[in-house]
Amino acid sequence: MRRAGKVVREVLELVRGHVKPGATTADLERVAEARISELGAKPAFKGYHGFPCVLCTSINQEVVHGIPSKKRVLKEGDIVSVDCGAIVDGYYGDAAITVPVGEKIAPDTVRLLAATEKSLYAGIAAVKPGATLGDIGAAVQGVVEAEGFSVVRDFVGHGIGSHMHEDPQVPNFGEAGSGMRLKAGMVIAIEPMVNAGKPDVRVLRDGWTAVTNDGSMSAHFEHTVAVTDTGAKVLTE
Ligand code: MG
Ligand code: MG
Repeated sequence: MRRAGKVVREVLELVRGHVKPGATTADLERVAEARISELGAKPAFKGYHGFPCVLCTSINQEVVHGIPSKKRVLKEGDIVSVDCGAIVDGYYGDAAITVPVGEKIAPDTVRLLAATEKSLYAGIAAVKPGATLGDIGAAVQGVVEAEGFSVVRDFVGHGIGSHMHEDPQVPNFGEAGSGMRLKAGMVIAIEPMVNAGKPDVRVLRDGWTAVTNDGSMSAHFEHTVAVTDTGAKVLTE
């Protein structure tokens, strides 16, 4: 899983370098697909329940599961979340980043990106044997709501291993001390999805793209995290 995580990280950093005004999300997809193959890995998303691509690319008010397209041109001031999964020898890695397009990002949007990434690391900091899923959710939610943003409820993190989505679900909200207890050897994907406005989302007619109901901006960061004897080991860093 460390190897799969390393592939995902390498692909995401390569794609980050291709995010610029005028690029399309199909350009990002092409770069990612070629690199996953060069690294001897398999894409985890392509064909998953019929998803057509190796990346999810979700622009601005799109929350998750946007489909790369040559019609989707990135503009100065946009943000784009890039989510990638890879399989190495049957084991999965899964991570996401949200990247600003160009230099002229609205201050509230800069704050949204920072709060979302910070909330991911707060969730990771809560991971250790004996901690609960609620400890993770409460840590994420606390950071997000302190900034006046909201946590998406309809999508959550997940266990990961020889399948991309395994038990348990890992919500980005909850009560400290509640829920399943973590044990060394478990691996989970923690992935806060954070809206600038209200938490409600809906899915577009393509059957995949989730957007904020109120049209507000949304950000997404994700890591695959192993529970160790002493705490957490991020496998996609
Ligand atoms: Mg993901
Ligand atoms: Mg995931």
